[in-house]
Amino acid sequence: MNPERTLVLIKPDGVKRGLIGRILSRFEDAGLKIVGTKMVQIDEDFGQKHYHDIAERRGEQVLHSLLKFMTSGPVVAMCLEGINAVENVRKMVGGTEPKGALPGTIRGDFAHMSFGHADTQKKAIENLIHASGTVTEAEQEVFLWFNMEELHSYKTVHEVHVF
Ligand code: AMP
Repeated sequence: MNPERTLVLIKPDGVKRGLIGRILSRFEDAGLKIVGTKMVQIDEDFGQKHYHDIAERRGEQVLHSLLKFMTSGPVVAMCLEGINAVENVRKMVGGTEPKGALPGTIRGDFAHMSFGHADTQKKAIENLIHASGTVTEAEQEVFLWFNMEELHSYKTVHEVHVF
């Protein structure tokens, strides 16, 4: 089976809370390979490109508050590679609403916010991470966030010793 690539973003709340290292370690510990990573301050235009279908799926209010949140500080973007990377990363990240995310997942361990509370505040839910939802979405998102020269090829010890 060929390895897959997926896009992960540590959102501004994760960066400001000083969780970059701990979140990265979760993925490294699982043997996922970081093939690209960078810190980026996005603007509204770029946010619209990344979240192009959110208004249809979640409504205009969520799009508005999400863009405000995602442009409120830098994010750490990374491209991770591994077997079934898209599915495995989503499993490790946990459900969208931190309140319902299982313990052991990144959102379940580091956040607790509910949709209800975020909505009364007219704020996007601060859930630390974005991770591509499907293989097709992952291909589009990696292409949006990274140039070819920013994605690297090397062998991890897992590849040398396990495969
Ligand atoms: P999704 O792609 O559907 O996971 O939504 C993207 C992001 O929008 C989520 O990760 C949350 O940060 C935010 N979000 C989604 N739905 C809501 C909601 N009902 N209230 C506040 N924020 C939301």
